[in-house]
Amino acid sequence: MGEQVKFLLDEDDIPTAWYNIQADLPTPLPPVIHPGTGEPIGPDDLAPLFPMELIGQEVSQERWIDIPDAIRDVYRLWRPTPLFRARRLEAALDTPARIFYKYEGVSPAGSHKPNTAVAQAYYNKAEGVQGLATETGAGQWGSALAMACSFFDLPCDVYMVRVSYDQKPYRRNLIESFGAQVSPSPSERTQAGRNVLADDPDSPGSLGIAISEAVETAATSGGTVKYSLGSVLNHVLMHQTVIGLEAQKQFEQAGAYPDVVIGCAGGGSNFAGFALPFVRDNIVDGKQTRIVAVEPSACPTLTKGQYVYDFGDTAMTTPLIKMYTLGHSFIPAPVHAGGLRYHGMAPIVCALLDQGLIEARAVPQNPVFEAAMTFARTEAIMPAPEASHAIRAAIDEALACRESGEQKTIAFNLCGHGHFDMSAYDAYLSGQLPDFEYSQQDVDRALGELPSVGASAS
Ligand SMILES: *Cc1c(COP(=O)(O)O)cnc(C)c1O
Repeated sequence: MGEQVKFLLDEDDIPTAWYNIQADLPTPLPPVIHPGTGEPIGPDDLAPLFPMELIGQEVSQERWIDIPDAIRDVYRLWRPTPLFRARRLEAALDTPARIFYKYEGVSPAGSHKPNTAVAQAYYNKAEGVQGLATETGAGQWGSALAMACSFFDLPCDVYMVRVSYDQKPYRRNLIESFGAQVSPSPSERTQAGRNVLADDPDSPGSLGIAISEAVETAATSGGTVKYSLGSVLNHVLMHQTVIGLEAQKQFEQAGAYPDVVIGCAGGGSNFAGFALPFVRDNIVDGKQTRIVAVEPSACPTLTKGQYVYDFGDTAMTTPLIKMYTLGHSFIPAPVHAGGLRYHGMAPIVCALLDQGLIEARAVPQNPVFEAAMTFARTEAIMPAPEASHAIRAAIDEALACRESGEQKTIAFNLCGHGHFDMSAYDAYLSGQLPDFEYSQQDVDRALGELPSVGASAS
């Protein structure tokens, strides 16, 4: 008999509660600040944008939050997701390391994002909300929320970053197939969009601009439409912990435990969803697992940004969040990992980095695609360009083990497939993929525009 490759769980093993790391953080998260008053914001400030249940989850200090059965019933469509032992990749690398990956690409939208989209649609519907507005970068979040809204019969209004709208028409078609409306951002539909277009009619857009448009749509709806965010916020990261919680059961099944846990980080949700249960083991049980967030060199938020208060969006409409940031005016180079181009990062991930509980590294685009090719040719899954950042880091760890002879257990989150990213692979395979390095000067210039309240509060 051959050696086991897939570690599978039953539907009954779908977690019954999400893990909230706020209960276990050695130092609590810094407050979120109202830009007008300079004071911490409260539930009333968030009520126009989010349903009360999610606002409660955002600040909850409860370690476990029950997952309603209606949400678990939708999760059953693709959860539990498989944990693979990458035996063929290990063989190709000739490494003594053991490599495992959790595969979130089996969800209907092809990434981890439905884990929170379903929860958000459910709670909004339960509180009588009549529609959701959101932004999407490469289209993964838009398709996840569109799918979730279709389950709960909620209209969905998606602002899609223009460069992706043009580069990735098929994901736009998927969003529309799930019944949502898609607008390229910047758009003429909002004041935020019109302001950007007045300055630059050919603006490629950015996640920050699209957020401004979606927030404006909700804020001016008279309370009927709420806003939904696919990453960054505490409750989003918490919903994603189903990934790591399942993985821990699967590692038990495999008789293994990771020495290194790796995820790519854009806003931080897939990384956190996979890693936080392992961070807990480090904090609570004294484990010494290395936890590594990987980002593009073109958007080096964690490795070159500063840990200060900044706006979550370009139009400076959101509260001020303490996070590693490249500055809210940051417009990223058009790298194909569209999901990794946000100027900031989830406050939880930033706090963990600041407190030395995780590591971060940045990798350029071409080595990422090389890793993706090695992975596709051995494990036969076309990975999303975002996920390929984690693959790059996992391969580098495995190659280091080949040098040192160590038999480490390396685990990464394969957060999505790349079936809608084939134009990126086309560019790579025809040798036309540029590498972008975001320089420290660029970082310093953008950070010069940070809000002053942030400077005093930081
Ligand atoms: C959206 C997305 C990301 C980036 O978002 P995070 O919140 O950092 O997870 C990464 N990978 C895939 C496949 C995505 O869809």
